[in-house]
Amino acid sequence: MPDKPKLAFYWCAACGGCEESVVDLAEDILFVVDNVDIIFWPVGLDFKRKDVEKYADGEIVVSLINGAIRSSEQQEMVKLLRRKSKVVIAYGACAQYGGIPGLANEFEKEEILKWVYEDSPSTHNEENVRPQLNYKVNGSEVYLPELWNVVRPLDKVIDVDYYIPGCPPSSKLLKEAVLVLLSGKLPPKGTVLAPDVALCDECSRKDTKPTDLAFKEFLRPNLSIIDPEKCILSQGFICMGPATRSGCGALCVEGNMPCTGCYGATSRVKDQGAKILSSIASNIEGKSEKEIDSTLNGIPDPVGTFYRYSLAGSILRKKVSI
Ligand code: SF4
Ligand code: SF4
Repeated sequence: MPDKPKLAFYWCAACGGCEESVVDLAEDILFVVDNVDIIFWPVGLDFKRKDVEKYADGEIVVSLINGAIRSSEQQEMVKLLRRKSKVVIAYGACAQYGGIPGLANEFEKEEILKWVYEDSPSTHNEENVRPQLNYKVNGSEVYLPELWNVVRPLDKVIDVDYYIPGCPPSSKLLKEAVLVLLSGKLPPKGTVLAPDVALCDECSRKDTKPTDLAFKEFLRPNLSIIDPEKCILSQGFICMGPATRSGCGALCVEGNMPCTGCYGATSRVKDQGAKILSSIASNIEGKSEKEIDSTLNGIPDPVGTFYRYSLAGSILRKKVSI
């Protein structure tokens, strides 16, 4: 019997939700393991780096890599997986755009470390101890990976063939991607393996979204009640639906929360944050500078709102130096 295609999963700077989406395949995981050999999946099975090194270049049929890249170890591992794999898929918002970890590009690494190890209210660290790259203990030397100053999406570090969006991607998208790969009918390189229409198109509230929005104020979902029958954006809550790719089934809106944009942009949009920002700015009812400022003050964290998942992959990319 011929060997089954080899498949690898790897986890870089991410929360672990993408790994959960693999587990969420539930009984479909049996379909996956019937059809492929999972040869590397550190979060689920005890594989080591040397297990990957022993494969010939290109021997792994597909590597699904989640998470952004911000450490020396992540960079080494994704370069190794790239060399050993025919196809590399950026799996999830962090690999595709930098994701939530990419918001760290608003701060220098030193600012982050100082806050985490010295200044935050919950820190008790009188000697201001920080993790060291090398440390000798009981006659042995231990090493930690180096943290870079900047968070990068996967395709800024290695060549990427396809993208599966989402925070995390739905298990349905994962299963469909595995089916496409097994069929051998590969789409053009660079394809995002999800529908290429805006989330509003699959939203059950789309008929209540007016063509002309006129924002007087912006509201926050933790401080106001959202009407479950009406378009959330039309009520003054920032809903990223118009600038976001569909494919999730409008999960958040179905749960009566605004879309925060985790599926990224459609192919027609270059910069997701700029797209929604320009659409919102041109729909503010007041026309004087004072009125516009007062309306926009209802959005206390514009970068975290409009670029929550996409900052590191956007045209802005970062505020820090390197
Ligand atoms: S803006 Fe949000 S709530 Fe309104 S139609 Fe689009 S996805 Fe649905
Ligand atoms: S509704 Fe928006 S934020 Fe929620 S899962 Fe879908 S794309 Fe992501």
